[in-house]
Amino acid sequence: MSYVFTPPPVTAIPVHGETAQFAVHRIYCVGRNYEDHAKEMGASGREPPFFFLKPADSAWFAPAETAAELPYPSATSNLHHEIELVIAIGTGGSNIAAADAERHIYGYAVGLDMTRRDLQNEMKKQGRPWSIGKAFELSAPVGAITPAAQVPEIAQAQMDLHVNGQLRQRSGIDKLIWNIPEIIEQLSKAWTLQAGDLIFTGTPAGVAAVVPGDLLLGHIAGLQDLQVRIV
Ligand code: MN
Repeated sequence: MSYVFTPPPVTAIPVHGETAQFAVHRIYCVGRNYEDHAKEMGASGREPPFFFLKPADSAWFAPAETAAELPYPSATSNLHHEIELVIAIGTGGSNIAAADAERHIYGYAVGLDMTRRDLQNEMKKQGRPWSIGKAFELSAPVGAITPAAQVPEIAQAQMDLHVNGQLRQRSGIDKLIWNIPEIIEQLSKAWTLQAGDLIFTGTPAGVAAVVPGDLLLGHIAGLQDLQVRIV
C-alpha cells in the first residue's frame, strides 16, 4: 500500500507495567454524568446519558512522575479542567448488555476533558455542536492505563483534582449517574465499540478555569496519577 502523504502516527497511551501501548481508536465522552456537576451547568441532574466525541489524536500521555506541558489553546479565554475516569475498551461490540460490559474493558485511566468553556457555552446558547469547545488538539490528556484486573474496586474509587496544590474537584466513581456497565450498554446501542476506544465518563462538580503556569494533578485511587502544566 502506498499513500499520497505519510499517514499520521498512531496515538497510543502507555499501559502501567507493560511495554506494549494502548493504541487509541476513538474517544467518546459522557456529558453531565455527576448530579453535582449537572446542577452547576444548569441541568436538573437526572436525564438520559448523552455523548460527544473528541478526535483520537487529541489524546496524549500525561505521566504521574513529571508534569507534561499543555500549551494554552487558541481561541479561548476560559479553559476549564474536568477530571474524569477513562474506560479503555479492549474488546469491541454493539448492543452490549450492562451485565456483559466488564469483559469488554481492558483497563482504566485518569483523564482530563479539557474544555474551552466560553466556546462551548456560546455553542450551547445557539443550539450548535460543541466540537469547537471540546474537540480541539491536546484536549484529552490521559494517564497511564491500568489493566482492569488490577483495580477490582474501581466502582468505589475516590477521585480528586488539585491545581497548584489546592483541591478543585473531589468525588467518587460511585457518584456516577450512569455507572460503568450502564455507560457501555448505552454507548454501544449507538456506536459499535472497538478495541482502542477510550470513554471519558463525566466529571463531578468544581470545574474551573486554568491559566498558564498552573499545575494540575489528577488522582483516582488505584490508578496512575496524571500531571499537566499549562504553558
Ligand atoms: Mn467532561
